[in-house]
Amino acid sequence: MRTKIVAGNWKMNKNLEETESLLTELAAKRPDTDAEIIVSPTFVNLATAVRHLESSIIQVAAQNMHFAPNGAFTGEISVDMLKNIGVETVILGHSERRSHFGETDAILKQKVDSAIANNMRIIFCFGEELEQRKSEEHFTVVEEQLKNALFHLEAKSWEQIVLAYEPVWAIGTGETASPEQAQEMHAFIRKTIAGSFGDAIANSVSILYGGSVKPANASDIFSKPDVDGGLIGGASLKADDFVEIIKAI
Ligand code: PEP
Repeated sequence: MRTKIVAGNWKMNKNLEETESLLTELAAKRPDTDAEIIVSPTFVNLATAVRHLESSIIQVAAQNMHFAPNGAFTGEISVDMLKNIGVETVILGHSERRSHFGETDAILKQKVDSAIANNMRIIFCFGEELEQRKSEEHFTVVEEQLKNALFHLEAKSWEQIVLAYEPVWAIGTGETASPEQAQEMHAFIRKTIAGSFGDAIANSVSILYGGSVKPANASDIFSKPDVDGGLIGGASLKADDFVEIIKAI
C-alpha cells in the first residue's frame, strides 16, 4: 500500500527565528494522521529544523542538491552534506529550478542517480506549462520528463521515489488543476510507470499533486484515487493552513 504524504516546500522564505517559530507551531498543532508530513526549509536552516523536530514525526527535506559528491561547485550542496545533518529526502526538479536555474532533464537524471546511490529519498517534481496544456501536449511532456530522468532506474530504486505532479500554470498562481484534471494525469502517470516497470511498482509509488493547494480545495483533490497527497508551497508557510491541509488527507 502506498503512503499518503503532505510536504511543504518553503522555497526562499523564513529566516532562522521564523523557521523555529513555524516548526514549533506545526509540531504543537499537528493532527494525528497516518500520512507522512514533510517540511523543507531553506538550506541554512535545515540542520536547525532536523534538531528541532528530533522528537516529532515531521520529517525534513532539502529543496535541491548538486549531483557531484564534492568539489569546485561554489554555492552548491552535496548529498553527503545533507545526509550528514540527518536529511533523508530531497526535492528534485521543481519547476522553479527548471525555469530559473536551467535544470534540464539530463541534469536532473544525474541528481537522481546521486540521490539513489546515496540512499536518499527523492520527491521528483514535473509538470507541463500552460501553453503545453492548451495545445494538448501535457501528457507527452509529462511522459518525457519522467522517462528522461527516471526510467533508466532499476526497479528497486523506485522505493526511493515519490512523484509530485505540478502543472506549472498552477504553481503560486492561485489557479488549481481541477480534481478531475489531477486524477486524469495521475492515472496516466501510473499507467506509464506500469508500462515500463509493472503494476506492483506503479501501484506502490506515491504521486502527490502540487499547485495552489489550499485548505479550501485540499479535500476535493485528495479524494481522488490516484492522488496520494500534496506538495504545498504558499499554504505551507502558515501553520494553520498547513495543518488544515494535513487534516484533509
Ligand atoms: C510548489 O511550489 O511546489 C507549489 C505547489 O506552490 P503553491 O502551492 O504555492 O502553488
